[in-house]
Order: sequence, then C-alpha cells, then structure tokens
Amino acid sequence: MYRLLLISNIILVCFLYKNESETYFASDLNTNNRGFIITQNKYHKYDSIFKNNPEFISKSFDFPVGKPNAKGYYNAQKFRNNNHLGDDWNGVGGGNTDLGDPIYSIGHGYVSFAENIGGGWGNVIRIIHQYQGKYYESVYAHCNTINVQKGDLIKKGAMVGTIGNAGGLYYAHLHLEIRDNIFMDIGGGYAEDPTGYLDPTKFIKNN
Ligand SMILES: [Zn+2]
Repeated sequence: MYRLLLISNIILVCFLYKNESETYFASDLNTNNRGFIITQNKYHKYDSIFKNNPEFISKSFDFPVGKPNAKGYYNAQKFRNNNHLGDDWNGVGGGNTDLGDPIYSIGHGYVSFAENIGGGWGNVIRIIHQYQGKYYESVYAHCNTINVQKGDLIKKGAMVGTIGNAGGLYYAHLHLEIRDNIFMDIGGGYAEDPTGYLDPTKFIKNN
C-alpha cells in the first residue's frame, strides 16, 4: 500500500511538472516571446495613467506655436536637414522677436519631464501621448520658461512654456521632436540614424 502511494505520488509530481512546463510554454506562445513581456511592463505606468484618465488620450494633434496651424511662424530647420531630429520653429519676425512666445502641447498627454538640463538643451519639456492605442512623445527644447510640472495631465493646446534661446546660445526658437519610441534618452538633437524619431510636421498634419 505504501509503495503504491509512493508511485502514485511520483506520477502526480511528474504530471504537475509536465503541466507546469506546458503552461509556461503556452504563456510563452501567447505573449509571443520574452521581449514582448518586458515591453508590456515598460508601458504599464502609462497604460494605467491613461486608463484612469481617458479624457487625456489624444484624438488629434496641432502645431506647438501659433496654434493650431503655426500661423506667424516658420520651420527654419526641417526634420532630417543636417541630420536634424526635429523641427525648429521661429517667429516670422526673425531674430529674438519670438522670445517668450507661448508653446502649446501638440496633443492631450502626460508631462513626463520638465527641467533645465543645461548644455545645448536648456529647459526641456517632454510629454507622453497615447493615441490610437500607441504611444508617442513630444519634446520641446530651449524653452525660456517652463509652465508645467512632471506628472501634470494636460490638454491639447495648453500652454506648457515659452520660446527661449537656451540661455543665449541661439536666436530664440522652439526645437520640437516627436518620437515613436518613448523610452529614449534626450539624445543630441541631430543624428544620422533617425530610428525612433518622426517628422513632426508630417505627423501633426496627418493626425
Ligand atoms: Zn533644432
């Protein structure tokens, strides 16, 4: 009787082990691969923010100056010119005539960063947008002032800061980037490889 019990226990253990490994295999299949599991975790914070605040999910995008269509401004250095990773918005008056002009959020979103990081960047504002089930990030650089804080939920067209010159490094302008990889570092503003960066003007016009 004892032997029988032992054998049945061994069979049970074997069954459980088999079952466990099958379950693992099945979940591995369901989630495609382990990389996908990690990616899902990365988005978890933003998934819950927008799930709890659905009114801040983006429905469309506008230009960040002269809203909604950049009236009174021109794009002095377009995306990919000189390996530029964004657009440089300037007032049509030239020079520093646009210094202190309002910068608006291109869409509803969540402020993930709002700080002076010095160097060639100055004051930088970064906003995460959920749009049609995907995530995008808009980056506003060289700002004269920052009018939002990390953690703010904002609506499209809300004033987030003012146009600056990064402490006198340039004539005042807004460097705007739009990214479809929201987990990148601030970067260098220019790069031969634009992976993770979108053409801001094209994106805003198409969405
Ligand atoms: Zn720029």
